[in-house]
Formats: sequence, C-alpha cells, structure tokens
Amino acid sequence: MSPARRSPGIAQYQYREIKMRSTRTRKTAPKAAAAVAPRKKAKAFMDEEGSKIWMDPDSLSVECAICYMPFEAEVFMCKNGHAACAKCCVRINRKCWCCGKPIGDMRCRPLENVLAEMNTLCRFSKYGCTEVVKYIDKSRHEEACPRAPSGCPFDVCTYRGLLLYKHLLDEHSGAVTSVANNLRDTTRLPFDKSAPFRVLVLERAPDTGEGEGSVLLLLNGGGVLSGRSLSLVCLAGPRPEGNSDGELRYKMEVRGSEPGVLSLEGTAPRVRELEGFEAKMFLFVPDASWAPTDRVSVSIRIG
Ligand SMILES: [Zn+2]
Ligand SMILES: [Zn+2]
Ligand SMILES: [Zn+2]
Ligand SMILES: [Zn+2]
Repeated sequence: MSPARRSPGIAQYQYREIKMRSTRTRKTAPKAAAAVAPRKKAKAFMDEEGSKIWMDPDSLSVECAICYMPFEAEVFMCKNGHAACAKCCVRINRKCWCCGKPIGDMRCRPLENVLAEMNTLCRFSKYGCTEVVKYIDKSRHEEACPRAPSGCPFDVCTYRGLLLYKHLLDEHSGAVTSVANNLRDTTRLPFDKSAPFRVLVLERAPDTGEGEGSVLLLLNGGGVLSGRSLSLVCLAGPRPEGNSDGELRYKMEVRGSEPGVLSLEGTAPRVRELEGFEAKMFLFVPDASWAPTDRVSVSIRIG
C-alpha cells in the first residue's frame, strides 16, 4: 500500500488538542539538563503561564505512515528521521519505507513525549462511547470498545451499527442459523464449499441468561492447498463472563464423504473487519471430504 493512500477511518480522529504549556518565556534550556532529565524539564514548564496548542486534525505526524494507525508508546526512526511504529519496523524488515536505511533501533523520543501527553475521544463517540483515552492507547481501546459498531457481513447490505443481532433477525432471517448457547446442545448445518460464510446467532443461555445478542460467522477460508479452512469468529455481542479472554468457546465437528470426523475446539476471536483477517486456528477440510456434492455437515456447540 502506498503511503499516499489513506485509510478512510483515520480521517475521523477529530479531537486533537494538546494541552501544553508555552515555552515562549524560556527560549533556551540548558542542554545538559534536557539530556539528563527531560521529564523534569517538561514539568518545570507546566508551572509557567500556559497556552493551548492545537493540531491540524489532518496532521499525518501522529500516525504511522505505513499502517496509518495512531502511533503507540514506541516510535522508531531511521537516521534520516522517517518514523514507523514498532510492528511496521518488523513488517518492513527493519528497512526504512522511505529511504531504505535501517530502522527499528533508534527511538524518536521527542515525538513519543508529545504523544504521551495527548488525549483523544474514542472514535466511536457517535455510537455512545464517552471515554477520553490516551492517544497512545487509542487503538487498543477501540479494538475492545463496547460501543464499536459492527457491519453486516452480507455484501449487498450497508448496515453498520450496535444492533447487528437484531438487524440480522429482522432483515436476513432466512440466512441466519440460531445456535444454542451451551456446550451440550449441538446445531447441525450443511455447509457448501462455495459459500464464503454462514451467519450464526446465539440464543440466550437457559441457565445463566447470558449470551443473547452474539453474532458469529462460520468462515470458509481459502489460503490452504487441497482443501478449505473452516473457522469461527465473533462479530458482535456481549463478552461471556467467566472466560478470562472474553471469547466464546466452541466445538466444531465436520463430517464429509470420507469416513471419520474432523474436529476442532477453541475460542472464537472477536473480529471487527473481515477484510484482511486471517484465522490463527482453523479446521482443515480436505477436498476429498467435500466430494462429490461439494458439501459437508458441520456440527457446532457454543458455550
Ligand atoms: Zn505502523
Ligand atoms: Zn528513512
Ligand atoms: Zn470507545
Ligand atoms: Zn444486513
């Protein structure tokens, strides 16, 4: 992806006020003191007459030029000053995206210090999130934000909101499968090799009353030779209590034309965007199992 192409979501970060104290009354700070104790020096400025500094909301300097995500606590730069986040340094093999010099050893401390002082609103504030978060924690918060909207997985539909479960039952009821919310009851469904996914909605658990509102996708992944990779992800819904990772547990069994049963046990990761998603855990169903009808039977238990 070229740095000139900006992802649409990033332009939404509007609240970029940095409250800092003016340095105008103190033009030069002793160099040695700045090098030895930069945090102390910053505090000294806090005692002086202050003024607000505003940032251009379209500024690129607080986002990684490679992944377009807000910088987190660590920012690296090459010897020419081009910056990248820690994850991207690994992704680009520690070779600067702009000039080809090594990148990943040298931190960009002044920018890190500015970022550490910045606060921002969660990007889902229009969906009701009232959190003011540290800018460097913004991505982490938004990944787990309980007010993040979910998009409808069907290609023809543009719905995006907080009520995906209700939307699916209202608008796509013929294309969703209800699944019991306990590990005792099994739901069986036929699954076509050509289907990209099946939408599952979780019923309320009879004993705990938990779980209603969860939407899961049984994904038919490509990317494996001589077969398909089936995996389960969670698109929306409350996090189950009692599971330390907040993910729904499941057991999946696949029966095809070959004798025997393929099975997988795991937890369904929460996924906001399917684009670019790669399942870490999946069930490999070889081509021989799909033949001759290009269909298998999938049994699922969730709880
Ligand atoms: Zn990056
Ligand atoms: Zn560079
Ligand atoms: Zn939020
Ligand atoms: Zn829809």
